[in-house]
Amino acid sequence: MPIRLLPPEVAGRIAAGEVVERPASVVKELVENAIDGGASAIEVEIEGGGARLIRVADDGLGIPAAEAALAFERHATSKLERLEDLGQLATLGFRGEALASIAAVAEVECLTRAEGEATGTWLRLEGGRITERRSQARACGTTMTVRSLFRHLPARLQFLRSAASEGAAVAAAVSNAALAHPEVGFSLRSDGRLLLQTPGRGDLREAAAALYGAETARVLLPVSEGGGPIGVAGLISPVTVTRSRRDHYRFFVNRRCVQSRVLARAVDEVYRARLPVGRYPIAILHLTVPTEAVDVNVHPAKTEVRFRDEGALFVAVRGALTRALEPLVLPLSASPWLESSDEPVSGVAPGPSGFAPSPTSWAGPKAQPPAPRFAEGLPVLRALGQVANTYIVAEGPDGVFLIDQHAAHERLLYDRLLADGDPPEVQGLLEPQTVDLTPAAAARWRDAAFVLTDYGFVVEPFGERTMLVRGVPATLAHREPGRALLDVLEDLAESPGADWRQRAAASVACHSAVRRGDVLAPETLRDLLRQLEVAAFPRTCPHGRPTLLHLSTAQLGQEFGRR
Ligand code: ADP
Ligand code: MG
Repeated sequence: MPIRLLPPEVAGRIAAGEVVERPASVVKELVENAIDGGASAIEVEIEGGGARLIRVADDGLGIPAAEAALAFERHATSKLERLEDLGQLATLGFRGEALASIAAVAEVECLTRAEGEATGTWLRLEGGRITERRSQARACGTTMTVRSLFRHLPARLQFLRSAASEGAAVAAAVSNAALAHPEVGFSLRSDGRLLLQTPGRGDLREAAAALYGAETARVLLPVSEGGGPIGVAGLISPVTVTRSRRDHYRFFVNRRCVQSRVLARAVDEVYRARLPVGRYPIAILHLTVPTEAVDVNVHPAKTEVRFRDEGALFVAVRGALTRALEPLVLPLSASPWLESSDEPVSGVAPGPSGFAPSPTSWAGPKAQPPAPRFAEGLPVLRALGQVANTYIVAEGPDGVFLIDQHAAHERLLYDRLLADGDPPEVQGLLEPQTVDLTPAAAARWRDAAFVLTDYGFVVEPFGERTMLVRGVPATLAHREPGRALLDVLEDLAESPGADWRQRAAASVACHSAVRRGDVLAPETLRDLLRQLEVAAFPRTCPHGRPTLLHLSTAQLGQEFGRR
């Protein structure tokens, strides 16, 4: 489509807004133009954090000589003509005002050559007006150079932060673009230093490696779910790879990088019971949704979107992530280190699980390093005994493990309750017991009766607020039955939140688990370790606290000055 001026009513309908806030916003707009222009390689260069110089060069379609000047006019765009198109825009830019806004607050040079034209066009703009123009050779593509951003706007200049922090914002913008477009090769240089480079082979894991390092990228778990109306693909942390902040949630909706509370909440919820308090995963998620299900025209920089059906999105993302984290069940023989043994285990080390994850790349099949999905699992452990009747001491292939017996048992029981499948084991009471509930507890019972019944409580109403307990989960058989019910209902009142299943499971697990001070028989110790070894998330309890401490042989050696 050739570049044209938008009719004023169309221009007016588009949520207006300053596009240019800081160097990173200039980089974002120029990079998006390059992507829309079909580039397969984009080189970004900045000096002085971008305030002194920004240069973005691409190998895309270029701008025809006859249209180069028009591109810098406000509301000039080749990407939108009619209002109706606003609903279904696939390209990134569409307001037709980025280049005009940038040229208004900086000195700009543009060198571009369109496909099929013999030579390129070089333009220079000052104060938004073209001051020089000539023909110049260039390979097909576009180079935009932006110098002295905000030089004539001291008020704006004053709001820029240090070159280092503006540079960091530029790096974030480029890395977002690189994760959004693994099929495009990106490079970023700051004051001559190469900060980032992605190969552009269409593999998200390779792009992630450029940001997080090859080691981390290798163990990220693939998410890949199509089928329904909402597609979810990407890479997420195994529980062993965590960060101290939510900064590493990157969401892309139809390739557009967005901030989203719903999506962040979905990630939080999946990891909450799996990570220690205050730790967060890396989550790079690409969502594919029908264009009419999302409104991108709510924010001038298009970083926020509005979803028609947030609930459906939440459920889709939570489901996809949960399934990605759930380890596959392998036959024991396929994975030697899952086998139990009471022999000393010094030679045994966790090995790769030896299966290929589903590909997350967009560009054809590609050899990927297998993601070790069991990286979070435990090695084979040999029980040595108990300390303070609270912690289990065990030997592993590399050092010593101290395990909190209550927290670990809690984790196992919790996972078992939440795993669908077998009905719960119920301990029936020879003589049913009556329990009086407070009004609050009675209300909790009404809310959660459906799950508590699933978990093994057999309870009947017996008057206004009196209940008749006929059975309890077998794991609670050692408790006084009425008390057990009251305790669980009390927990549910204390931890508000919507997910009755998880909360009730955490409570039942907590009251069922062995406790601090319980003396455990050697068989019980061994049994607990066996189950922990094959548990999906052995390192944290359902409340997110750690279940174990590991002292490696190297750490021991160091402590004893043995090196
Ligand atoms: P928008 O991207 O919203 O259309 P811009 O002001 O960013 O508006 O760009 C104006 C027009 O200039 C674009 O529609 C496009 O036709 C052209 N253009 C800008 N940058 C490039 C590029 N790197 N490659 C090809 N065309 C470009
Ligand atoms: Mg644009």
